[in-house]
Amino acid sequence: MDCKKTGIFIKKLRTEKGMTQRDIAEKMNISPKTVSKWETGAGSPDISLLRELSEILGVNIKEILKGDADINDREEGNMKKTKFYVCTECGNIITSANIADIYCCGKKLENLQSKKAEDSDHDFNIEFSDGEYYVTMNHEMTKSHYISFVIYITSDKMQFIKLYPEQEIHLRFKKQGHGYFYVYCVNDGFFHKYI
Ligand SMILES: [Zn+2]
Ligand SMILES: [Zn+2]
Repeated sequence: MDCKKTGIFIKKLRTEKGMTQRDIAEKMNISPKTVSKWETGAGSPDISLLRELSEILGVNIKEILKGDADINDREEGNMKKTKFYVCTECGNIITSANIADIYCCGKKLENLQSKKAEDSDHDFNIEFSDGEYYVTMNHEMTKSHYISFVIYITSDKMQFIKLYPEQEIHLRFKKQGHGYFYVYCVNDGFFHKYI
């Protein structure tokens, strides 16, 4: 375990949740100084505290130890596991809480598999200001090749913005905590980013 990395991660998660070190300390019955020590990497959370800490921060223990969110290792059964389906015939967009047999225009739809945006040529920017995430992307918006929707999804909420050709990709989402942003390109598919 890399104390510095874990510390930075804890701080990031805490501030994203709008919590102070004191808030965490009070929830866990420890001193704010202890939380401060973790965050600066001067100490690491005792094993016995990891489960509670991970629950407060909304990640799993492994992620805290690693100091990084692991998209493939999310275990909780929540909205973040939502499946998305797009009908290429009519443009219909369907979401489902679980894998399901979904048909549209006489065809069975495959559940969209997303690629990591950072590792693709469909990366996008997420900036935070005034309680909102501001999403921008450099991508053509022509009738034959455009981003058709952007989704921000956390464990209990989903925000969905539909886009059309000729529109600009300048989108605002109200901050609701940890989760994923997805963009869907009609030609190139589905891309995600963890926030
Ligand atoms: Zn259809
Ligand atoms: Zn594209």
